[in-house]
Amino acid sequence: FRRAGRWWAVGTARDISERKRAEEALRQLAATDGLTGLFNRRRFLEMGTAELERARRFGHPVSLIMFDVDHFKKVNDTRGHDAGDAVLVALARTARDALRGVDILGRLGGEEFAVVLPETGIDAAVEVAGRLRLAVAGMDVVLGGAPLPVTISLGVVQGRAPGENLDEFLKRADEAMYRAKTSGRNRVERG
Ligand code: GH3
Ligand code: MG
Ligand code: MG
Repeated sequence: FRRAGRWWAVGTARDISERKRAEEALRQLAATDGLTGLFNRRRFLEMGTAELERARRFGHPVSLIMFDVDHFKKVNDTRGHDAGDAVLVALARTARDALRGVDILGRLGGEEFAVVLPETGIDAAVEVAGRLRLAVAGMDVVLGGAPLPVTISLGVVQGRAPGENLDEFLKRADEAMYRAKTSGRNRVERG
């Protein structure tokens, strides 16, 4: 405003760091699975789709691993639901540790997980899946004194050029995983 022949300005400032922190915390909650802390299904699908598009644009390889806990119902039935939950938490941690930082790991639901591996062809992805399988089989989940053996079955596929969508990609991985189940479990099958 102008007063006495001069310009003056009045302003207010408010520190919104706290609000920004709260917003970020909410965003995290919406993107991650409450039990394991991994990406939830929705976030996994978003990130996976973005990576597929990127790979297609640059003509780079991308692969997908899907895995599911073997006979998980038995864990819940014999050791209780909390023990089942503890297995899922341990499994998520083991998988995260066995993967690269750029790999997109998500919990698709229940005891089913998936990983998108950027810049990775099928042979390397099958190796990663083998490593995952061994890491999980070697986990020491000890609950109530008695150790709890855990194994997973995995399906591995490479993205098709010029491209399929993530749904089709997941479906092929699921089919490979199903073969791993029917041919004995605790195995890796490539699609
Ligand atoms: P398979 O080797 O064929 O995969 O056998 P499975 O027993 O693992 O079969 P299925 O995939 O049908 O069973 C999944 C079970 O996982 C059923 C459900 O009760 C349990 N489950 C799903 N989500 C959770 C969870 O968050 N916590 C616990 N404790 N159990 C869960
Ligand atoms: Mg299962
Ligand atoms: Mg299942």
